[in-house]
Amino acid sequence: MLRTRRIGLTTRSDRKSSVAIVGGGASGTILAAQLARRGIESVVIEGRGRAGRGIAYSTTEPAHLLNVRAEGMSAWAGEPDHFVKRFERDGGERRGFAERRLFGRYLREILDEAVASGGAEVIERTAVRADRDRGRWRIGLGDGSSVEAQALVLAVGNQEPEPLSAFAGAGHRFIRNPWGDDARAAVAELAATGEAALLVGTGLTMVDLVLSLEAAGHRGKIIALSRRGLIPRSHADFEPAPIRSSDLPANLRALFRWLRRRSAEVGWRAAVDSLRPHSQPLWRGLSRDEQRTFLRHVRPWWDVHRHRIAPDVAVTVARLIGEGRLEVLAARIVGAREREHGLEVDFRRRGGSAVQSGTFGYAFSCIGPLHSITRTKDLLLRNLLDSGQVRPDRLGIGLEVEGTARVGEHLWAMGPLTKGRYWEIIAVPDIRDQAGAVADDIERELSR
Ligand SMILES: Cc1cc2nc3c(=O)[nH]c(=O)nc-3n(C[C@H](O)[C@H](O)[C@H](O)COP(=O)(O)OP(=O)(O)OC[C@H]3O[C@@H](n4cnc5c(N)ncnc54)[C@H](O)[C@@H]3O)c2cc1C
Repeated sequence: MLRTRRIGLTTRSDRKSSVAIVGGGASGTILAAQLARRGIESVVIEGRGRAGRGIAYSTTEPAHLLNVRAEGMSAWAGEPDHFVKRFERDGGERRGFAERRLFGRYLREILDEAVASGGAEVIERTAVRADRDRGRWRIGLGDGSSVEAQALVLAVGNQEPEPLSAFAGAGHRFIRNPWGDDARAAVAELAATGEAALLVGTGLTMVDLVLSLEAAGHRGKIIALSRRGLIPRSHADFEPAPIRSSDLPANLRALFRWLRRRSAEVGWRAAVDSLRPHSQPLWRGLSRDEQRTFLRHVRPWWDVHRHRIAPDVAVTVARLIGEGRLEVLAARIVGAREREHGLEVDFRRRGGSAVQSGTFGYAFSCIGPLHSITRTKDLLLRNLLDSGQVRPDRLGIGLEVEGTARVGEHLWAMGPLTKGRYWEIIAVPDIRDQAGAVADDIERELSR
């Protein structure tokens, strides 16, 4: 028999309605807090024990820093110093880059406050399906129990990357999930043996792993490779050069020319950041072909300039490159084989035809999240997609969204699931605005 937790309209006069939020990362946490402030009760369903932290902020490593200054990381749009005040109490500075685990603690406190106020409840289970039943959502959980709620919000974050086919025969020496226990164990083993590490992908995940290896005492060689070999640039102070949206061209080619020209005038950091307030409408104004062109050709360049790393982190990366311990290559993996003495990997450098080989203790996938939403392994998303209750967006990278974040009847999605519509919707400043808008939507809809 199914055990059902019914949370709908409560008898308490200060509660108006109730919401099930699947995913307890930054998106789910900030939304639960927003709803609690409005007197709307929610239940946060978190499947991997990361309630209040999610993937980004459950790291325990001091070396992993935020890539946004503390002053930009408040969970509340109307209280810009909310995080800074707590960070300063811990000896941090407003324009500094906090440890991600501290930010995780901050988010967890926010969730705990919502729970303590009676506005939220956390259920540590995986949601595996969701169905409409007599005007309510019934969310099936992995243990066979279920939750009923009037509204459902999908805040399940980025999806696990696809397996890399070149590593099909690589056995346990290829680490698919750079955030899991296997990755931590592999880092410790590499530190002990001094064997070389291969990092496939050269973005922020690669940087995290380099820092983990360094902090663990690994002194062997690290090779990081991606098709273009671009690595994230460093934050630095600059004079902002804001622009009006009317100054911006509307098509991708002209926009790119504008950015080059503007970078020459005011510096690339000021030029890139001046687009930030306009990036969502700019993205929505592009045609589907332009959006595809951006994803295929411009994105690697955009990512490394837009999502910059803390200066201290950049110094470490530069030092390791200078010492010859970290080598960043523009190359493609051709094949990989597990051997008794390690993982043998063949790769071809960009523009070259010769195949090079190297032997590594472990290779880590740092390629970033899954690109195609229809290939998700998340059971809940699979169920909703297969049953036609949600649809992929026109690029197939997230869900089709109406209005702010609505993806179905009394159904909303947040964060990375809405990137097809907004593109820039992954960082906390964007997520907190979206959480406010979704909470407004829910409040309006459930009080009808
Ligand atoms: C390594 C890293 C560093 C980052 N650093 C910064 C930064 O410094 N500043 C910044 O602004 N942004 C940063 N970001 C971006 C951004 O803050 C995160 O992407 C953001 O935290 C996304 O939060 P989320 O809640 O949408 O997703 P997630 O953090 O992925 O959380 C989703 C949660 O949903 C749970 N879940 C998934 N499916 C189910 C299911 N079926 N049932 C139950 N639970 C489920 C997962 O266990 C997970 O805990 C970083 C991102 C990463 C990956």
